[in-house]
Amino acid sequence: MENKAKLVIIGAGIVGCSTAYHLAKLGWRDIVVVDRGPLFATGGSTSHAPGLVFQTNSSKTMTKLAKYTVELYSQLHTDEGTAFYDVGSIEVAYTADRWQELKRKLGWAKSWGIEAAILTPAQAKEKIPLIDETKILGAYYVPSDGIAKAVRAAEALANLAIEANAAKFYGDTRVLDIEVEAGQVKAVVTDRGKITTDRVVVCAGIWGPLIGEMVGETIPLVPVQHQYVKTSPVSELAGETREVVHPILRHQDKSMYFRQHGDCYGIGSYQHEPLLVDPKDILSNKKAPVMPSVKEFTEEHFQQAWRSTVELLPSLAGTELPYKINGMMSFTPDGFPVIGESAFARGFWVAEAVWVTHGGGVGKMVAELLTTGIPSLDIHECDINRFTQVAKSREYIWASAAQQYREVYDIIHPLAQQNHSRQLRLSPFHPRLQELGAVFFTSANWERPQWFEANTNLLEKYSIPQRQGWSAQNWSPIQGAEHLATREGVALYDLTPFTKLEVTGEGALAYLQYLCANRISSTAGKVTYTSMLDANGGIMCDLTITCLGRERFWVVTGGSVGEHDLAWMKSHLPKDNSVCIADVSASYCCLGLWGPLAPKVLGAVTDAACDDESFPFFTAQQIYIDAIPALAVRVSYVGEPGWEIYAPTESGLKLWDLLWQVGRQHGIIAAGGGAFETLRLEKGYLLWGADIHTEYDPYEAGLGFAVKPNKGEFIGREMLLQRQQYPSRKLCYLTLNDPKAVVMGKEPILAGEKILGYVASAGYGYSLGRCVLYVYLPIGYEQPGTTVEVEYFGDRYSATVTESN
Ligand code: FAD
Repeated sequence: MENKAKLVIIGAGIVGCSTAYHLAKLGWRDIVVVDRGPLFATGGSTSHAPGLVFQTNSSKTMTKLAKYTVELYSQLHTDEGTAFYDVGSIEVAYTADRWQELKRKLGWAKSWGIEAAILTPAQAKEKIPLIDETKILGAYYVPSDGIAKAVRAAEALANLAIEANAAKFYGDTRVLDIEVEAGQVKAVVTDRGKITTDRVVVCAGIWGPLIGEMVGETIPLVPVQHQYVKTSPVSELAGETREVVHPILRHQDKSMYFRQHGDCYGIGSYQHEPLLVDPKDILSNKKAPVMPSVKEFTEEHFQQAWRSTVELLPSLAGTELPYKINGMMSFTPDGFPVIGESAFARGFWVAEAVWVTHGGGVGKMVAELLTTGIPSLDIHECDINRFTQVAKSREYIWASAAQQYREVYDIIHPLAQQNHSRQLRLSPFHPRLQELGAVFFTSANWERPQWFEANTNLLEKYSIPQRQGWSAQNWSPIQGAEHLATREGVALYDLTPFTKLEVTGEGALAYLQYLCANRISSTAGKVTYTSMLDANGGIMCDLTITCLGRERFWVVTGGSVGEHDLAWMKSHLPKDNSVCIADVSASYCCLGLWGPLAPKVLGAVTDAACDDESFPFFTAQQIYIDAIPALAVRVSYVGEPGWEIYAPTESGLKLWDLLWQVGRQHGIIAAGGGAFETLRLEKGYLLWGADIHTEYDPYEAGLGFAVKPNKGEFIGREMLLQRQQYPSRKLCYLTLNDPKAVVMGKEPILAGEKILGYVASAGYGYSLGRCVLYVYLPIGYEQPGTTVEVEYFGDRYSATVTESN
């Protein structure tokens, strides 16, 4: 075996093989792939996956990864046959809620470019004659879904990488350690010798956490047992020799799925309590009775699932179950894969917790990241750097992975809140928030008020349109009242979860200028709103930077993207130690004091003059509020006058009390995240991750005002200027024409039957009296007054473009 390689891939399951293939395609050579098991049925999860590929997902990214994967597998084959059978898929509705959910799913399919349809029970039975159509309300059908032969796909991809002279594969080769020097990967130590390399990609599936431990990186996943069985021949399928003809089938109301295996049927069930396994307890290939990723079948967990099976597919009742396994697969705290380079060990790359369904696409993303640093899709949902420190604890990972397993097929409301691992991050205002009856939502493991029951009395003053159904869940009309009260008076918002970074050093200004698209002011007290771009001109981060001195900058970004933004910034630090980044988020709390009366409130507790002239927008001052030192930054995400006030965390409670006491004379209220969101939507402020991310550039997003191409070189400048010349879409602000209608985001936008785009963000503009939507529309549709339609649970609502940038 080689003792040197340009890159080592650990794991020859579907993910490792796909990564090797895509790297080969991008011109990489000198790749070594090692696997502790035999090639290519290695004993990992790929070896026993029945290979059902359902592409439609609420996440655009996951859907696009699956779509590409289907295209890729469809072209692959080995001597044994094809790697993909495009038999289609059926998802049945047993309940009225599921029936509605399938219509929502059809909306995602349209938004993300998947051909799909809703079927009647009879139409579903036509496609899968085994179904008892009297039990279902209808079905969702995707003709391009199907069965991936996972080991065949892996082997075919590996062969292509081998034929390109790009990669060598070694089975029965176990990685024992990874050597790291000065934070950089140096070698991979295997039981067959050491391979010197400065890049390793971990595609080790359920063993991933053990490889992470070798370099001190937490790979937050847990192997979870999952049941799969095969029946004896089914009489209705007698004589069938083809591998699969029936569409694959999902019965999500009972957490189950099915596929045909020739004249037999396969049954997968999540309908049991989560059975988690410590990766350390996975047996070796030699010791495992079946294979390492398979545990003993536990009959008691399948009994209910069998009853559900014969209810939907009565003809299976007479069959036996000669094949039964508890296979193991990875579950992460949020259900997304883990992709990217470790921030602790340079050259340590991870592609973990990936289903066969997404294996092709994930391999492509990893290869692109390694080659150019820019994946062709926005994959921030899968970013290795999305987890907070508390979310990397074993307690959190295990509790949330178990919850993900329980909910894997559940109908999940976009604002549904987790009921485990709460109270992990509390702001210093927490006791006051509780006293005011805050209803807490979590974000980045912080407890954030969404609205306050203490504001119920505002409903006597403000009339908020009532809601029913989906949009009324996890919502209160009080949010609307808080929204209107902020526009009219003054409100306090707990913004402590913001990520706060201090960038200091003699190279700090030059570093920020190179990272940011806007010109960063070097005048103390000036605030700059800017994006940071990737080399393709896509928006990587979106933040405000306040100059505190010649070599000192205060950088603020959203709490839920803080880890992501910090990792990006750190990865660009100059090597000469001229710049230092300190994450001071925990040291400072933050209050948003906003509304037309905010200057009156702040003016009463500080000596600083708070009028527009003395304290203009986009400036900051170090002030005292009573005895509390604070940085007051005159910016507003809600579109009303006011400040973000940063103060030492230990003084937070006193700060709240001071502002509250004075504010009472001006009718101050505490307001929550619900109002915060709709206020920003109404005023045209964008949210990174939804309205902007790496697939969009600042010009098409309407952020051209914050780009200064003439200031000198910065990351992404060249590509951005090219993109500017050929715009194909514009971010537009639309309102629904029906003042009572509300949509939630991700819905398709149509002109007749032509799909124009999808809703990036949506929320009710309580001041406008209409629902506001942000949508990227193709050039030609961006003119104010243009009317389009939004599809929501199968119904169409007309919407009008009110503004575009
Ligand atoms: P693996 O296939 O497990 O590969 C990881 C490899 O790393 C292994 O070969 C292992 O030997 C190797 N390795 C680990 N540690 C070391 C080391 N120290 N040194 C060297 N090599 C090492 N997904 C779908 O999309 N559709 C389905 O229908 C589906 N059904 C499933 C049914 C069951 C019962 C189960 C358990 C899973 C199912 N999955 C399905 C999930 C899917 O199988 C996995 O997510 C996927 O196969 C993971 O691929 P991988 O390459 O990451 O991992």
